[in-house]
Amino acid sequence: MTDLLLSSGNKNKKREFNQILKSAGFNVIIPSDIGMDVGEIVEDADTFEGNAFKKADYLHKLVKVPVIADDSGLSVDALGGAPGIYSARYAGEFKDDEENINKLLTNLQGVKKEDRTAQFVCAICMIFPNGEKIETRGTVKGKIAFEKKGESGFGYDPIFLFNDDKTFAQMSAEEKNKISHRKIALEKLLEKLKEREI
Ligand code: IMP
Repeated sequence: MTDLLLSSGNKNKKREFNQILKSAGFNVIIPSDIGMDVGEIVEDADTFEGNAFKKADYLHKLVKVPVIADDSGLSVDALGGAPGIYSARYAGEFKDDEENINKLLTNLQGVKKEDRTAQFVCAICMIFPNGEKIETRGTVKGKIAFEKKGESGFGYDPIFLFNDDKTFAQMSAEEKNKISHRKIALEKLLEKLKEREI
């Protein structure tokens, strides 16, 4: 197993990355596992890919193991793709999920069900010690509900309606993780890692 350093403080993300990447021989660790304090990396690129690269490149310059980072967000068609890369801080720098949802629902007032289409996007960037880089993107389509439903998940999950049926917050973590943007991007990464070994 090769250690793979993930640019995140989130243990759930670490578990999700590990579940998929262990079959490619990687043991995913996060900076706190090795006593590293990374602090806040400024995510000021103008694309998901740009921000994922920034986060991975920052670690790549500090350590001699493969590194990986992701950047994700929600893109709403009726709002020209907003909140997009600004998803976490849509309603302000304090990154409040509740406030972000309220702002989004307010901005979509009067928009009919069929026009409330949206997608979650996840960009992943992995960099090897020799500088080799692999990038993937996963998306999942859905609609923005008229009100919050469900208690699980995080971020915009309570208003992201999948298959016109349940919101992501009405699904169990297992159910969501099978179809999520992050899962799709990770599966694509796994494919590329397998091709690389041949
Ligand atoms: P990050 O890429 O982990 O920094 O996520 C950016 C922001 O996008 C989060 O704070 C959430 O607001 C939103 N987001 C990303 N993925 C999801 C998801 O799976 N569910 C709900 N919100 C998400």
